[in-house]
Amino acid sequence: MKSLDNFEVWFLTGSQGLYGEEVLQQVADNSTAIAGGLDDADDIPVRIVTKPVVSSPEAIEDVCRQANTDPGCVGVIAWMHTFSPAKMWIPGLMALDKPLLHLHTQFNRDLPWAEIDMDFMNLNQAAHGDREFGFVLSRLRVARKIVVGHWQDPAVAARIGSWARAACGWQESRNLKLARFGSNMRRVAVTDGDRLEAQVRLGVAVDGFGVADLETAMANVERQAIHKLIGEYHDEYEMAAELARGGDRHQSLVEAARIEAGLRDFLEAGGFMAFTDTFEDLAGLPQLPGLAVQRLMADGYGFGAEGDWKTAAMVRIMKVMGAGRSGGASFMEDYTYHFGDGGPKVLGAHMLEVCPSIAGGRPSCEIHPLSIGGKPDPVRLVFTARTGPGVVVGLMDLGNRFRLVVNEVELTDPDQPLPNLPVARAVWKPLPDFETAASSWLLAGGSHHTCLSLDVDIEILTDFANMAGVELAVIDHDTTFASFERELRWNQAYHHLVAGP
Ligand code: MN
Repeated sequence: MKSLDNFEVWFLTGSQGLYGEEVLQQVADNSTAIAGGLDDADDIPVRIVTKPVVSSPEAIEDVCRQANTDPGCVGVIAWMHTFSPAKMWIPGLMALDKPLLHLHTQFNRDLPWAEIDMDFMNLNQAAHGDREFGFVLSRLRVARKIVVGHWQDPAVAARIGSWARAACGWQESRNLKLARFGSNMRRVAVTDGDRLEAQVRLGVAVDGFGVADLETAMANVERQAIHKLIGEYHDEYEMAAELARGGDRHQSLVEAARIEAGLRDFLEAGGFMAFTDTFEDLAGLPQLPGLAVQRLMADGYGFGAEGDWKTAAMVRIMKVMGAGRSGGASFMEDYTYHFGDGGPKVLGAHMLEVCPSIAGGRPSCEIHPLSIGGKPDPVRLVFTARTGPGVVVGLMDLGNRFRLVVNEVELTDPDQPLPNLPVARAVWKPLPDFETAASSWLLAGGSHHTCLSLDVDIEILTDFANMAGVELAVIDHDTTFASFERELRWNQAYHHLVAGP
C-alpha cells in the first residue's frame, strides 16, 4: 500500500510515427514495464500510471491538459524512449501546469556489445531523444526535475520518490484551506504577511473567523463526544492524577476535550486542514487550546500560534510530504540556548503547541499555569522529542516574494532531565555548526516559528520550492556563511528579474 495512495503520477513516453507500428508497440511495452517497476518501488509513495505512448502534438497536448484537470494527478514524468521531435511537445508543455520530472533512462541496462544492430539502436535512443526534449524544455523555460540513471537503480526510484512527495505537497498547497481564529499577535512582524499574495503564489486560502465561531462549535458538542475523548486521553497518555477521572482538576480536562471536539467539528465542516489561534484573542474560551492543538497536529492538521498562518500552512504541507514515514512534524520555535559544555544547542518548544508525532516516548497529560493570555491553566501534553536528523523550515514574506529557509539539524537528547519544564520540547544541534547556522538564519530573516520535521529532507524541500517558484535558502552541512551571503544576494537579483515589472 502506497502511503500517498490517493495521488498518482503519470508516466508519458514520447516517440514518433517514423518507426512503424511494431516499434511503437515495443515502446509501449517497455514503457509499461518501466512505469510498473517504478510503481512497485517502495521509495515512491504514489501510484505511477502509464499513459499511451504519445507521437503527435495533439496527443501530447491532450494528455497534458488531462493531467492539469485530474485532481489525483500530482505530476508528470516524461521519457523519450526513441526520438520524439520536440516541436511536437511545445503546445502540451506550454499548457502543462503540473510538476514535471524528466527521467533520462534507457530500457536496456546493458549494451549488447556482441549482438547490437540497427534495430537496437533505433529502439534505444533516449541518449539523444532526451537531449532533444531537454532542449525544448530549456527553450520554453519549463521548470522540471531531471533524474538520470537506469530505472531499476534504487537511487533513481528514491529521487523520483522525493519529487513525488514534493508534488503531493504542492498539490496540497494549491488546495489548502486555512482557518484563522483571531488575528496576528499585535506588533509581531514575521508572522504577518500578504495573504492575498499567498493565495496567488501558493494557492493557500486563509479565511478569518472570530473566536465566537469556535465557541458556537464548542457549544454544539455532545456530551458523548467529550466522554469518548476523555477515554482516549486516558488510554494514550500518562494522565496526571489531578486531571484523571475523579481528580480535583478533572473539569479542566473536560474543558480541553470540549475545545478539541469543537475545533475538529469546525475544521471538518469547513474543509480546513490548517488553523491558527492567538493567546491575545481567546474571548470566552475556557483556556488557551493546548492539548487540542497538539492532538489535531498529530492527526495531520497544520498549526501556527499567534496568528502565524504561513507556518501553519508549512506544517500541513510538510506533514503531507512526509506521509508514511515516522509522522514526525511539528510547529516549533527556537526558544533558548545552551552555550556550555556539549553545546551550543537549541532548546525548541512553545507555550504548549508541540506535536506529539515527534515525541520520543509516551507523552504525559498535565496542567500547569500559563503566565500569558489571562485564562485558567491550560492542559497540555509534555514530552521530549526523539533524536535523529531533521530539518527546521521557516516561510517568510519579504514584501516582493516568499522565502523558504531550511536548516538541517541533528536532534539530540537533553543533557539532563528537565523536571521543571512543563511543556513539550526538542533539543537540536544545527548544521554545519551553531554559529554558521544562526548567522545565516538571521541574515536570511528566518522566522522564530518553524516547522520541524524528521521525515522531510532537503531534496524534497528543494523540489517543492522549484514547483512553487519560491526562493529557497538552505543551511546544511556544506554551508559557509560567505557562500550563503553571496547566494542571498544572487537570489535577490534573480527573483527581482523573474518577478518582472
Ligand atoms: Mn510563538
